[in-house]
Amino acid sequence: MRIVTIPCRSDNYAYLLVCEETQEAAVVDPSEAGPVLAAIEAEGVRVTAIWNTHHHFDHVGGNDAIAKKFSGCAIVAHESDKGRVPGQTVFAKDGDAVAVGKEVRATVIFNPGHTLGAISFLLESPAAVFTGDTLFAAGCGRTFEGTAEQMHSSLVRLTSLAPETQVYCGHEYTASNLVFAAVVEPSNKAVTERAAKTSALREQGQSTMGFTIADELATNVFVRCAEPEVVASAQREGGTGSSEVDVFGALRSWKDRF
Ligand SMILES: [Zn+2]
Repeated sequence: MRIVTIPCRSDNYAYLLVCEETQEAAVVDPSEAGPVLAAIEAEGVRVTAIWNTHHHFDHVGGNDAIAKKFSGCAIVAHESDKGRVPGQTVFAKDGDAVAVGKEVRATVIFNPGHTLGAISFLLESPAAVFTGDTLFAAGCGRTFEGTAEQMHSSLVRLTSLAPETQVYCGHEYTASNLVFAAVVEPSNKAVTERAAKTSALREQGQSTMGFTIADELATNVFVRCAEPEVVASAQREGGTGSSEVDVFGALRSWKDRF
């Protein structure tokens, strides 16, 4: 199988997961139809499923137009997003298996926090996870609907996946997330190195997607809430309490106004 990254809107990503044996494909998070339909045509694939990580408009905006072109196209989202995802036909829950063609097989991971129905799709082979707005490169989504505790435990769960697992998220926020990380954890050399790599990629107009869980464990302050430097920074910015959830909550509200 192959993964095609499709830039959409100003900084969104949709993805095409292609079964090379059958030329069938799943679309992850089509925020808008135009660029996704162009990629579908360029790849010469038939879409049999749309996988939505959550209900926000910039993740489902292309659902109707794409489903209209491919009759019988399944639209998968969390069961609790019923009524919030256009055209939803599959009401998934944690641990459910989803598949397209013979090669594209994934498991649903329920990770509430950004929204209450947020899910990720964990591909079997290659090991890759599509995290929407839950886990970003060196960051995470805002906790719009869930609590700090829910978001933190969702992030801990995702970063407990095998370290070599590749991550594809919903937005190209990597550079700005690393600017924040460098302020929170100035002595972390992995952050500095990743920021340099990110600038080089972005200067060449390339996406930073396909990073790994190992990268996140080394540089994502939102899952490094027990590191003394992270704890100290969070407390300096008004954080109270030193549990990992307390530190996470302080970091998240700091980043919201950063
Ligand atoms: Zn969102």
